[in-house]
Amino acid sequence: MQLPLFSILSTDSSKPFQTKPIDPQEDPQEEQWSCLNSASLYGLETWGKPYFSINKKGHISVQPNGSNNHTLDLFDLVKGLESRNLELPLIIRFDDILEDRLKQLHEAFENALTHYHYQGSYQGVFPVKCNHQHHVVEEFVTCGKHWHFGLEAGSKAELLIALSLLEDRKSLLICNGYKDKRYIETAILARKLGRQPVVVIEQADEVHRIISASHELGSSPLIGLRVKLTCRSSGRWKSSVGEKAKFGLSIPDILKTIELLREAKLLNELRLLHFHLGSQINDIAVLKDALQEASQIYVELIRLGAPMGYLDVGGGLGIDYDGSKTSTQASTNYSLQNYANDVVATIQECCASNEIKVPTIVSESGRALASHFSVLIFNILGTNCSTSKISEIVGKDSLIIRNLKETLATIDNIKISNPLEISKFQEAWNDAVKFKEDAFTAFRLGYISLPERAMAEELTLSCAKNLIKKIPLDELIPDELKNLSSILATTYYANLSIFRSAPDTWAIKQLFPIMPIHRLNEKPTQLGDFADLTCDSDGKLSNFINNGNSKSLLELHQLNANEPYLIGMFLGGAYQEVMGNLHNLFGRTNAVHIRLNGSKGYTIDHVVRGSTNSDVLQAMEHLPELLLERLRVASEMAINQGDLTISDARRLMDHLETSLRQSTYLQE
Ligand SMILES: *Cc1c(COP(=O)(O)O)cnc(C)c1O
Repeated sequence: MQLPLFSILSTDSSKPFQTKPIDPQEDPQEEQWSCLNSASLYGLETWGKPYFSINKKGHISVQPNGSNNHTLDLFDLVKGLESRNLELPLIIRFDDILEDRLKQLHEAFENALTHYHYQGSYQGVFPVKCNHQHHVVEEFVTCGKHWHFGLEAGSKAELLIALSLLEDRKSLLICNGYKDKRYIETAILARKLGRQPVVVIEQADEVHRIISASHELGSSPLIGLRVKLTCRSSGRWKSSVGEKAKFGLSIPDILKTIELLREAKLLNELRLLHFHLGSQINDIAVLKDALQEASQIYVELIRLGAPMGYLDVGGGLGIDYDGSKTSTQASTNYSLQNYANDVVATIQECCASNEIKVPTIVSESGRALASHFSVLIFNILGTNCSTSKISEIVGKDSLIIRNLKETLATIDNIKISNPLEISKFQEAWNDAVKFKEDAFTAFRLGYISLPERAMAEELTLSCAKNLIKKIPLDELIPDELKNLSSILATTYYANLSIFRSAPDTWAIKQLFPIMPIHRLNEKPTQLGDFADLTCDSDGKLSNFINNGNSKSLLELHQLNANEPYLIGMFLGGAYQEVMGNLHNLFGRTNAVHIRLNGSKGYTIDHVVRGSTNSDVLQAMEHLPELLLERLRVASEMAINQGDLTISDARRLMDHLETSLRQSTYLQE
């Protein structure tokens, strides 16, 4: 991997203006910094509630059951896990949070049902595609038993997972996605096993396969219909609805399907109407329209003679990643309770005015249930932070160096109190940039030496640093000067592959809350972003939450010698793990499941070891044994030719064998 050297030329001037970094050591009048400042800087008091806060030590505190009566210090927890040989990067799954989210969802619906005197009930399912990990799906089933909480499968493999884990006869098993004959037959047989599979017809031709499989087996599954709604949607996945949507039946298709089911004497098994608006619905108005349309269709299906009984409102319940409570992509303009109220009220109203029995309400929320409980922790390996000390050169300064030194002195002499002096900032910076470019040209043509060129770069950097300290934060400041702080931004090298652990930050520019998990009682003095371990220049985290907007640089601390600097990525429990890939062969990270233990402390319920180098090599069809054997033969030859000593050969083989057994990430 090549670490980019700092170069003032590589600056991306399109980066937006950031708050200026202030070094408290250099500025003694700087006000005291407290954990409250950190909580507000990183938005923790909004997105973090009720599970994450900051404790007196300046560490992140976790309240896994959503209340203050039992908290865990995240930093100490990581230390405890590291001492058990669970190296970073590490996913910590708080199963109590998962349970609490399930509870919150059910409470919200129970409140709404009571409030609107709804004569039916609510019964949710978890879409397996959101997090396939065995312990995660199992945890949803176990914690959800109380409410007969079910599962949703979107493929044959997911159906297999759901069938093996869901034993409750009252829970629903919603079967979505493309279905071949074997998928449908498996669902039919599962019903004979006493489960409740609902095969949802999503494509017009699936009804034929359902009819023929049912005739062959002499029994049928419960049947559902997925409708393509015509109402508008919003957010990233808005194309999930509308006439051009990938899944779902148009109204003419629905009518044809009903007739086919009627002819095949299967209309009596049609129980469920389903729609799905796409993930992360930002705007509740969109949901209301969809609910009205779907409720009308539900009523009509009953009029056409189907027994019905379930209305499945799909997923899409959003997460407020940045805590801004807005209809922007990283947020939602509604709460969980607003959502439940709207679902219940709309369906209730439509059924009442048509004098039809209300359905059992089903929802397939994935993101809203699975995001909070998982926290990704990674360590920083180093930064590209350059020292502010300027090298000394023996002998007389060349003209270019003298010019730069004068510019630096000019900057130091500008008085901020005088508004007329603002233009001098600009002038001085223009000079500095010009002289630095002169230095590059002079070097290229052989007029200055390498040490002189280094000195020119350092002087320009000092000009930028000293300017930043003096510039008032003011609208009138020219853009070029506002961008100075991004010139000075630090790259933090993260022991992480974003392609493995946070793929959506790269693929769809999704924002997750990211912040240090300790030192929160210290003022962060740097602006920086993260570069990951892959050799891909896209392997960066450089998009951070900013109260409804985003920013390209995050406030971070200067690294302390011999001290770890640990960063947490929060709300990433949905979709990230399964979408992650093996770019540069960085494998799965270690993961642990944590449960609160009685009144204090925790137990580690499960440890899921990350991939070893051997695992990822085999995933690409390389044979570790063969690889070792080839290198052994090559070493023997080198020994015979006198190029390698026996002890060096042994050392090499030791390294190879140990690496194969070890994690793909860097070790301390
Ligand atoms: C993906 C998906 C879901 C889950 O959506 P979330 O936005 O994560 O709640 C639910 N239903 C279907 C059909 C899906 O494809």
